[in-house]
Amino acid sequence: ARKPIMAGNWKMNIDHVEATGLVEKLHYTLVDREWDPAKSEAVLCVPFTDLRTVRTLIDGDRLHFGLGAQDVSAHDNGAYTGEISTAMLSKLGVGYVIVGHSERREYHGETDEIVNAKATKALSAGLTPIICVGEGLDVRKAGQHVEHTLAQVRGALAGLTAEQVASLVIAYEPIWAIGTGEVATAADAQEVCGAIRKEVAALYDEPTAEAVRIQYGGSVKSGNVAEIMGQPDIDGALVGGASLKPEEFAAIVCFY
Ligand code: 13P
Repeated sequence: ARKPIMAGNWKMNIDHVEATGLVEKLHYTLVDREWDPAKSEAVLCVPFTDLRTVRTLIDGDRLHFGLGAQDVSAHDNGAYTGEISTAMLSKLGVGYVIVGHSERREYHGETDEIVNAKATKALSAGLTPIICVGEGLDVRKAGQHVEHTLAQVRGALAGLTAEQVASLVIAYEPIWAIGTGEVATAADAQEVCGAIRKEVAALYDEPTAEAVRIQYGGSVKSGNVAEIMGQPDIDGALVGGASLKPEEFAAIVCFY
């Protein structure tokens, strides 16, 4: 059975001082709720400048949080000013990295080829990529959302082995549902997540498709998480705005 994975994407919010307060409040809220880390995995995907601080909190207080970055370079260490390598993230005990978020595709020109290169580099460094895919409103209105998203999945996974794909996370985030308060219906989310799993089965095999974890992202909050998690092919959520509110994110982590 796939273990549910709730990842908070803080985006470009929360400096390293604020991070201490947020992580501690989240921890105590989860203690109050008697969160069982065997029932759901919680990952914090924080700005690069917060990674060291959050790593220290997790280690010092033995918190059951996974640590994630929001992007990584496709290159090895070298003359790439401003970039952060997989080796640097690994050394900090970072376990996850978001790759190909729609905001990076839109504002930083990330193509499927770049997403594929970053995911490949992350896997070879022992990091688990959370690969983001999903359509914009125009594509949805044209009824092309499934084909569009599956093309992104094929592009992102090109050249990866079945074992690598089984270990990673795919996040379906319809762009029109991000930060808008407009959540895809559970049925809409399941339609695409189910199609992604079928595509993985077609590209690889059934065991790989059964193993890969697929998240939904886009205006997930405490009030809609149960219905989303009730869908057969949705194994977790990638949470933006609500991950900045300890009460909300704790409720999402304790959805079960
Ligand atoms: P919101 O939860 O704020 O809609 O953001 C979703 C997202 O983009 C997470 O990566």
